[in-house]
Amino acid sequence: MTEHSVVIAGGGPTGLMLAGELALAGIDAAIVERRRTQELVGSRARGMHSRTVEVLDQRGIADRFLAEGQAMQIGAFAGVRLDISDFPTRHNYGLALGQNDFERILAAWVGELEVPIIREREVSGFAQDETGVDVELSDGGHLRAQFLVGCDGGRSVIRKAAGIEFPGWDPSISSLIAEVEMRDAPQLGVRYDENGTQAMGRLEGGRIGLVISERYVGQASDPTLDDLRRALVAVWGTDFGVHSPTWISRFTDMTRQAASYRQGRVLLAGDAAHVHYPVGGQGLNLGVQDAVNLGWKLAQTVKGISPESLLDTYHAERHPVAAGVLRTTMAQTTLTRSDARIDALRATVAELLGLEEPRKRVAAMMHALDIRYDLGEGHPLLGRRMPDLDLDTDAGPVRVFTLLHAARPVLLNFGEPGGVDITPWADRVQHVDAQHVGTWELPVVGSVSAPTVVLIRPDGHVAWVGEHADTGLREALIHWFGPAPRAASSDLDGHSG
Ligand SMILES: Cc1cc2nc3c(=O)[nH]c(=O)nc-3n(C[C@H](O)[C@H](O)[C@H](O)COP(=O)(O)OP(=O)(O)OC[C@H]3O[C@@H](n4cnc5c(N)ncnc54)[C@H](O)[C@@H]3O)c2cc1C
Repeated sequence: MTEHSVVIAGGGPTGLMLAGELALAGIDAAIVERRRTQELVGSRARGMHSRTVEVLDQRGIADRFLAEGQAMQIGAFAGVRLDISDFPTRHNYGLALGQNDFERILAAWVGELEVPIIREREVSGFAQDETGVDVELSDGGHLRAQFLVGCDGGRSVIRKAAGIEFPGWDPSISSLIAEVEMRDAPQLGVRYDENGTQAMGRLEGGRIGLVISERYVGQASDPTLDDLRRALVAVWGTDFGVHSPTWISRFTDMTRQAASYRQGRVLLAGDAAHVHYPVGGQGLNLGVQDAVNLGWKLAQTVKGISPESLLDTYHAERHPVAAGVLRTTMAQTTLTRSDARIDALRATVAELLGLEEPRKRVAAMMHALDIRYDLGEGHPLLGRRMPDLDLDTDAGPVRVFTLLHAARPVLLNFGEPGGVDITPWADRVQHVDAQHVGTWELPVVGSVSAPTVVLIRPDGHVAWVGEHADTGLREALIHWFGPAPRAASSDLDGHSG
């Protein structure tokens, strides 16, 4: 039986990102993917948010996506555009790029990192024991892994086989999505009615892309051209002579979240862990950021550097983030309907979002720039994303994100050079003496006092902040990056004495 340290079920955006993260950490991972090629039939996500561009920048691959997409102010709440061009980030915009292109570029990176993708097979089940997971494939084959991660989308087989509950809300809206040709001139544009969003737009190549929302009454998930004709007539009074569909699908506003992101050696990420209506364009972004949170933790656990309890911080940190997205998505879904009362509410929300403070807060939330993992009380940086500062070092100028390209932790010392000693962790944590001229600005928070030392996790979040003392540094190093190897023991070493 073929063995891998980690088997990833599903090679969509989440599975691909996780594979890349694990490969960077030197972990032997393999993806099992049902699809024959990466190419998706039809479009899904059309944009990336600022923090997603940032995490790609942290790995040195943002330029590949920026070269093919269009940087623009795509962030919106319930249809109200939210401009972030005044935000303190290099990527003060979103990136308009189709999911197909996103996956193609990401898959190419994963290919360079030599992660095998086992295609045209599904994970059909698994059995876990104390030492690993026996992964069953649809062709009768088996794989053995230390850990299995379900990145297999909203209908996740892994989640169901693990018996992980998926509580939430049943659908109320069912939306047809299609790419078609029309004999008669279509009515292009977006409008809301009592059922939600009704939209038609011209796609590249002149075809028509459309979304038609209906009240959910248990419609089948594989609609036909006749279903589309009927729905067009119901909304526009004509079917515009619709013909030659290349894609007809359905999605709903079912809103659910896995009760647990981990069950022993099995983990969930992306849509497998949370589903919601696509309004606001959050799903792909959430999944990619789940993967970046999980990857290094899983790598350290596989290597035996950290105990399995480190994996529980994945649920602790990412579950609340998705719960927040589910909440705001439900709010926005309500605002895509239209009647006199909802129109009045939407107008009020739009007015509020025109004010400086609400715009900043909601825009930061939609772009995932406001996330603060709960790492306790302390400096405002603690648990937040590290800003991509321009640093001066002995080796020359460097950006913080460049230091994260290898997905290794970084200790940045802005104090006396050599003033902090982390020698026992030297193999795991990069120690950089640096200077930064200028203010420290965080989205929403504003200016913060400059710290003396910052310990940054591979996902770019700040694990510990020092201000003129190293109190708590040793504990933070042990907690996040494992006890120091015995051979290098010193007074900073958790095993010393
Ligand atoms: C109409 C629409 C518009 C959207 N717009 C946006 C947007 O603008 N921005 C945004 O961020 N998100 C958007 N989303 C959401 C986004 O598409 C999803 O959140 C995203 O695809 C989730 O990625 P994933 O990798 O977690 O899951 P998926 O993309 O579903 O990938 C799962 C993969 O697993 C494979 N698979 C499934 N089961 C198995 C199995 N048992 N074994 C092996 N392989 C398996 C599948 O073939 C698939 O490749 C939109 C969604 C829809 C429907």
